[in-house]
Amino acid sequence: MPAMKTDASAREFDRAKKLFPGGVNSPVRAFKGVGGDPLFIARGEKSRLFDEDGNSYIDYVLSWGPLLAGHAHPKIVQAIAEAAQLGTSFGAPTARESVLAEKVRQLVPSMRKMRFVSSGTEATSHALRVARGFTGRERIVKFEGCFHGATDPLLVRAGSGVETLGLPDSPGVPKTVAALTTVLPYNDAAAVRDFFRGPLGRETACAIVEPVVGNMGVLVPRQGFLETLREETRRAGALFICDEVMTGFRVDRGGAQARFGIEPDLTCLGKVIGGGLPVGAYGGREEIMSKIAPDGPIYQAGTLSGNPLAMAAGIAMLELVAQPGFTEAIERRTEELCARLREECVRAAVKAQVNQIGSMWTCFFAADEVYDYPTAKKADTARFGRVHRAMLEHGVYLPPSQFEAGFLSSEHGPTDLEATILAFRAALSAAR
Ligand SMILES: *Cc1c(COP(=O)(O)O)cnc(C)c1O
Repeated sequence: MPAMKTDASAREFDRAKKLFPGGVNSPVRAFKGVGGDPLFIARGEKSRLFDEDGNSYIDYVLSWGPLLAGHAHPKIVQAIAEAAQLGTSFGAPTARESVLAEKVRQLVPSMRKMRFVSSGTEATSHALRVARGFTGRERIVKFEGCFHGATDPLLVRAGSGVETLGLPDSPGVPKTVAALTTVLPYNDAAAVRDFFRGPLGRETACAIVEPVVGNMGVLVPRQGFLETLREETRRAGALFICDEVMTGFRVDRGGAQARFGIEPDLTCLGKVIGGGLPVGAYGGREEIMSKIAPDGPIYQAGTLSGNPLAMAAGIAMLELVAQPGFTEAIERRTEELCARLREECVRAAVKAQVNQIGSMWTCFFAADEVYDYPTAKKADTARFGRVHRAMLEHGVYLPPSQFEAGFLSSEHGPTDLEATILAFRAALSAAR
């Protein structure tokens, strides 16, 4: 196979390095976790990405999760175009915001009231303020390796790019802020119980969790973990915040909370909710949400919140999600992909754990079950880097880190799967 032509991407990367730290506008895009330089993307179509050199790839990153209906889905593109004709932003209420909110509430009924924002990070940082304002407590609990956006109190043991790049907790986060964050091990119900029944439990405003983790790679909650967290937070008078920015509309049409039967106090959404445009949301119990300005004293605002183009894209996306069988079909295809990846690993005698739920998956090159931060860290990242590179050369675009989730969309069909399996077989043997 001839070496891939990447001249145009290389040229663009040189230019971008003069403008952006690391040449990128979000760190994991820089491919530091796998070696090599990032590809510059010209366009996307259904399950495929096309780079500036004209190479095409089956895309399992999907903009890091939002594109549940693939690239440039005609319904979403049309909705955005129609909305744009009428004006791009008003800074005043529009009917579209209520249309999207009603759709969200139908799918995620625990979000009795909500606020739209423009990113997942905004959703989690505002949800924290609301939890603190509502409870009058300052301490928060998060879980090791979980990522909730680049917001100060949550950039502690934070997975995702922080893990990929091996960074310590970020400089610039004040010690006094980080000191209010307690980090507990993911999937450890006993640690949750001990903490919330201990002296700090009653000083704690909230626990925030990725119900299914995507940001250490995909980890699935063990039986009883989320249930214990729900029960112990309630007992201690703390709020349970379910960060479904990645899992929302993806591990189930109603998110992880529907799948596992958990009712959080607050939920954060992002990614899929915007259908590829910048939308986030947080919401939950009426009693809590009524404390937000102008109904209450807790302040939160945003110039572009509820942006009409973003709302239009979100509405089109959630109309697809609400179709019977839509998310289930993507899940079945993801299960099939993962079963076949496992077979290929066995056949090549490569030790691997392919974790999957809904349309999220990760192939960890690890000998033992991966269910928390320490077990994820045992994965062979050097092998992952070699496989990643070889997959690119065979036309498959995987997340550029062992510690990120892969995704499927409704547009990933059987021919994509066949091509992916052949590429994986070749990559495993090239990456010995
Ligand atoms: C991506 C992500 C965020 C941050 O969302 P942005 O839109 O990137 O700000 C927060 N929480 C989780 C679980 C995420 O996966």
